[in-house]
Amino acid sequence: MRFDSVIGQDRTKQLLQRTVEQNRLGHSYLFSGPDGVGKTLLALDLAKALFCRATGERPCGVCRDCRMMEHETHPDVLVMQAQEEKRLIGIDQARELGHFLTIMPVQAERRIAIIREAENLTEEAGNSLLKTLEEPASFALLILTSSRIQSLLPTIRSRAQEVRFSPLTPEQIRQILRTRPELEEAEVRFAARFANGSAGRAFGILDSGGREIFSEVIAPLLAAGRGEAFELSDSVADWARTTSSKLEPQRERVREFLRLLSCAWRDLLAERVGAAELPFMPEQSSQWAARPGAPGVSGILRIEEAIWNARRMIDSNVAMNLALQELFERIARIQKAA
Ligand SMILES: [Zn+2]
Repeated sequence: MRFDSVIGQDRTKQLLQRTVEQNRLGHSYLFSGPDGVGKTLLALDLAKALFCRATGERPCGVCRDCRMMEHETHPDVLVMQAQEEKRLIGIDQARELGHFLTIMPVQAERRIAIIREAENLTEEAGNSLLKTLEEPASFALLILTSSRIQSLLPTIRSRAQEVRFSPLTPEQIRQILRTRPELEEAEVRFAARFANGSAGRAFGILDSGGREIFSEVIAPLLAAGRGEAFELSDSVADWARTTSSKLEPQRERVREFLRLLSCAWRDLLAERVGAAELPFMPEQSSQWAARPGAPGVSGILRIEEAIWNARRMIDSNVAMNLALQELFERIARIQKAA
């Protein structure tokens, strides 16, 4: 059994391979670990391997079950996640899933349900799944994935066997990004560096134009000298508005900007305290730190706090312009005082 769709996670793959080979596969698992590291992909790969009819290496990719898995038409697998507008997995969805796992498989030997981001289950929905978890049908397999297991209902968490996933290395993320031929190598390197171990984050950075906002706003902001006024908050707001006329995608873009900004300042902080490794921008950081008027450790910490504050404002639906203006003013004041 091999899981080729997923790059990295070798220990987790070996663990699952052994479990299946030794016929020890249980009925419920919790795949935990950061977002965008392959949890759902591996759950689907496992389903494919379990369904595959080949006698040799599985999944073979050519049998009827493998092909149906690839076309997402296999009748014995169900993938569930929060409905976009609600951001929660409600009781109706949970009942549908519970029902799915009690009906005999149509063509495979198992029925497999995957719940993505299971921390989004409402309490009511979680409770309705307890019966499925406590008295599963012999053919049922339920895989929950979560990047925030501390937010999972304890009753659910205690009944599923946890399988841990780790953050990816920058090289593994580059490998994943290179499967998209339209991406240039410079984009791949940029996104992998800022992705914090998550291929999902890397794609998010690229899809939201993170590289442009970095060179157009963040780099000038960090390179700006003492007392320089910043007119950059408008650029961020304009950039956010290019995504969509709807507020939520615009807010998501501003959140992306704030995450990148925070990474850049963290590098400067590492430079200041003499930390050996700069994860994000090793070339620029020493130049930024050396310029006249660059903030010291306490200034950088105050800037981090201002970024957190802006994130909170964005999350609590304060107008983007206000949140950004306040942030840029605070950064300008701190830079000026440095
Ligand atoms: Zn097959």
